[in-house]
Amino acid sequence: MGNTDQCRDISELNELCQILLNKALEEIKAAGINPLVVETYRSQVRQNYLYSQGRTMPGTKVTWTQSSIHTQRNAVDVVPQREVNGKMTAIWNSKDSETKKIISIMQKYGFEAGANWTTSPDSPHFQIKGVSKTAKSYSSTNTNSLITKMIQKALNSKIKANITVDGKWGANTTKAVNKYRAKQGWKEDGKVGVETLKKLLA
Ligand SMILES: [Zn+2]
Repeated sequence: MGNTDQCRDISELNELCQILLNKALEEIKAAGINPLVVETYRSQVRQNYLYSQGRTMPGTKVTWTQSSIHTQRNAVDVVPQREVNGKMTAIWNSKDSETKKIISIMQKYGFEAGANWTTSPDSPHFQIKGVSKTAKSYSSTNTNSLITKMIQKALNSKIKANITVDGKWGANTTKAVNKYRAKQGWKEDGKVGVETLKKLLA
């Protein structure tokens, strides 16, 4: 597969991002929607190639940035697909009710929705910004406000942690993470790794 090819493989994403995406896709399907994962990881070569379209190369502009979160393995494009006139069709419409439902479910799992951007909104685009592509856990030093909110909500529901859902990972959040980890018999390292995240969202 060439470097400029489109990749739809979920397993090419960051490990934590995969968990969040798979949970969201489960919920999207349970809502009766057939989601199409359009693109996951994007090599820098492909990002540069896309950026050249409508600039140094012919065509319409398809991206606004050379530093996409797709290259950081923490972004995915998802649209609904359904039969239109007997043919399975991807729906690229931000006003579509299934698109809106996908956006709301993805946000629940900590994804920032491109649909909410004021400049160049991108409704199929979802990302987790500010987290390293090789991250194996979320922690006070490796998170963003949306991910922190999602974790705070989960801790409140799992162990009645009573944390303010403010997206700020302070001492109380770390304490609650440790309380939750201790409950599973795990080391109290203040981190939400793969197993913790799976369990928190189960
Ligand atoms: Zn995207």
